[in-house]
Amino acid sequence: MGRGVRHAVVIGAGMAGLAAARVLADSCEAVTVIERDTLPRGSAPRAGAPQGHHVHGLLALGAEVFEGYFPGLRAELEQAGAPVWDWGEGLCAVLPNGTPPPTPMGMPIQTFSRPFLEHALRRRVRALEPVTLRDGLTVTGLRTAGPGKVVGVRVKDGDGGQAPPSWMGVLQPLRAPDFHKGCYAIQIENKALHVTLHGANGTQLPHDDEDFLAYAKTLRGPIADVIASLTPTSAVRRYARTVNRRVAYHRLSRWPDGLIALGDSVCAFNPAYGQGMTVAALEARLLDQMLRGRRTRMPLDGRVFQQRLARITASSWLMATIPDRAWERSRTAWPVKAGNWFMNRLIDTVPHDPRLYTAFSGLFHMTAGPLTLADPRLLSRVLIGPRPGTSLRAAAA
Ligand SMILES: Cc1cc2nc3c(=O)[nH]c(=O)nc-3n(C[C@H](O)[C@H](O)[C@H](O)COP(=O)(O)OP(=O)(O)OC[C@H]3O[C@@H](n4cnc5c(N)ncnc54)[C@H](O)[C@@H]3O)c2cc1C
Repeated sequence: MGRGVRHAVVIGAGMAGLAAARVLADSCEAVTVIERDTLPRGSAPRAGAPQGHHVHGLLALGAEVFEGYFPGLRAELEQAGAPVWDWGEGLCAVLPNGTPPPTPMGMPIQTFSRPFLEHALRRRVRALEPVTLRDGLTVTGLRTAGPGKVVGVRVKDGDGGQAPPSWMGVLQPLRAPDFHKGCYAIQIENKALHVTLHGANGTQLPHDDEDFLAYAKTLRGPIADVIASLTPTSAVRRYARTVNRRVAYHRLSRWPDGLIALGDSVCAFNPAYGQGMTVAALEARLLDQMLRGRRTRMPLDGRVFQQRLARITASSWLMATIPDRAWERSRTAWPVKAGNWFMNRLIDTVPHDPRLYTAFSGLFHMTAGPLTLADPRLLSRVLIGPRPGTSLRAAAA
């Protein structure tokens, strides 16, 4: 077929953009769809189409038109799980004056979420030979060749809003007794920023977007400004189970054959320390080593496994429980006090000492054990402490 237009550009890979690209593909040599969002691989809501979180019903006519342009779409969606039902039979219409009884109408309707439909259409459109879908690009204006003639678009990377922050992550830990508010934020897939705000000692945590920003504004550091410049893509979710919990399976004198326990079922940490997934991986590695190390057909010794697992969790357990105990009002034992004094001294010195910062990061990421700090060159730096004149207490949140 002779193609009338050499190159068409579609702005936005939403419903209209995808439908337009489909149509243009029949008559253009090339079609470029430019979408501001980094598009999800699967069926997922996204920032540029926030309405995707809400109910999206496709009317009978719309479905017919889409089916015409994308033959087999209905069957494809049905196969993937989207129900097809008769409007008259399946609808419970609660009208001001009553609810009509089920009435077969021969009007097939298919229901799905908006991201589900969008994903299917996107896949179809991407497969069209003349179409190129460019995501993560914002159209900032039109290019013209004199008045009244548009010849192209101007684009820029990303969402065209505030530039992404210069950092990839923010870590603002809590510390008894003064620092009872903090946050974790990381840049994740699809150019999203994932933010967790946390608090201790009865701090009221936010419920909604407005409170979330208000809470962030009470923190030191850059997080509030960045949150204020972004669009939320999900609701605020609260999580309150932060207690450290360990079951001493390793102390049992008998252990049943054919069972092992690992992960949070044995030892769950306050998630603020970010240890759980790593510890789970180490425990799985232990399992692998023990399975490989045993003689063929010999059963795994579950009791030995639990004992070795306890060794894996030991230092993480201390790293989580020592600082958490400092929040307790009751008198704490001197080893806990000493441990906290040391950790606080270390953390206070880290901002002024790159070597110590590196060692501390190794400890945090568990690539180095606590004994690293027994190195006299590091130990002396901790004991001497930060340069005089620097006070973090003054900035407590
Ligand atoms: C809460 C809610 C519920 C709805 N429920 C229904 C329903 O039940 N049934 C129904 O048929 N319709 C419903 N709609 C309407 C439907 O979502 C829209 O009509 C439809 O998505 C319009 O398609 P569109 O392509 O114009 O816009 P969108 O689908 O919103 O797509 C616009 C796209 O353009 C991109 N974009 C924007 N600016 C740029 C730029 N400068 N550069 C590059 N890309 C850019 C965006 O990221 C987005 O992907 C609902 C809408 C809302 C808000």
